[in-house]
Amino acid sequence: MTRALIDRAENDPASLGRDHLAALLSLTDPLDTRLLHAAAYRVKAREVGTTVYFRGIVEFSNLCVKNCDYCGIRRDNENVERFQMTVDEIVAAARWAHQGGYGSIVLQSGERGDDGFVVFVEDTLRAIHAATGGELGVTLSLGEQSPATFRRWHAAGAHRYLLRIETSNPELYRALHPEDHDWAARRACLDHLRAAGYQVGTGVMIGLPGQTAQDLADDLLFFRDQDVDMIGMGPFIPHADTPLGHLAAGFDGQAQLELGLRMIAVTRLFLRDVNIASTTALQALAPTGREMGLLAGANIIMPNITDTRYRRAYQLYNGKPCLDENGDQCRDCLERRIESIGETIGYGARGDSPRFRKRV
Ligand code: SAH
Ligand code: SF4
Repeated sequence: MTRALIDRAENDPASLGRDHLAALLSLTDPLDTRLLHAAAYRVKAREVGTTVYFRGIVEFSNLCVKNCDYCGIRRDNENVERFQMTVDEIVAAARWAHQGGYGSIVLQSGERGDDGFVVFVEDTLRAIHAATGGELGVTLSLGEQSPATFRRWHAAGAHRYLLRIETSNPELYRALHPEDHDWAARRACLDHLRAAGYQVGTGVMIGLPGQTAQDLADDLLFFRDQDVDMIGMGPFIPHADTPLGHLAAGFDGQAQLELGLRMIAVTRLFLRDVNIASTTALQALAPTGREMGLLAGANIIMPNITDTRYRRAYQLYNGKPCLDENGDQCRDCLERRIESIGETIGYGARGDSPRFRKRV
């Protein structure tokens, strides 16, 4: 029964409905899980290949106006020393990535909507463009913004944007955020991003309190209906200084890791030709978590290239790995890890998803 379902997912994914997806996401038998991952890996190899693309991530500020219940840098957490890198510091990281053959970088931060921030990001994008001859691709992950801001940043050189919907279930979203955080407004941003010309990425947290396998199946249907180009999702991990910090007590990291990997595998089987990131949160749960993500169907890794002096202050969840490794060390370590599973690294290429290339 289960085997037949995995075969169907591999050979006829369009025929899968919500209940099939939820059943695949609920597999626990170790042999079934191995078969699921192997099927996802075959689809990945065929649809997007076994070249891993790097997006160096610069977490340039932890100032945030939002107060998401799960996040370690939420506005009300007073145990965080707030920082903001300068344009020059960000450009130095971009230059390092460009010289090292990274095709693109991601600029991520807490959310701000003030004019000063909009202009700061615009200046930074133009400076990166100038410093790298326009060769380095730039993805932004700066939260919800107005359509005008999205357009300004696109005009200044950003070409991809990552905005996780966090969960496709508006009620669950409401349970995890203060009253003034609005699921519908966040969802609308995905349309505004597409209209502004970006390649759009979204994603969810996996294993949120109150989230069911049906919710995760709905997340997959949401990704399909949004026709997204890339997906960045990772397991929820409690942070002590947040309203969800009490969940650390009963937290089962192993189960959370396995669920995260199943979600990657089922996403690959269902959506085929999108880019899927193997996120750092997987590595927080197991030293080789990101390699496991690649073997379950992911094809993108986002090495942290933020100056080590800022990394401690940018902890969205507890147990963030590699706080002391600098960019060079990260790169060497990752090269070894990727070689160890027999994959190659796509240096010098932006690594757009086949889904995106087919659409344009
Ligand atoms: N402020 C921007 C980008 C930074 S947060 C935004 O919110 O979009 C980036 C992502 O970190 C969030 O989308 C969320 O999915 C993830 N995140 C935050 N807290 C987390 C936690 N405790 N466990 C796992 N992921 C978390
Ligand atoms: Fe701010 Fe993003 Fe964290 Fe929410 S998830 S508190 S928007 S940094």
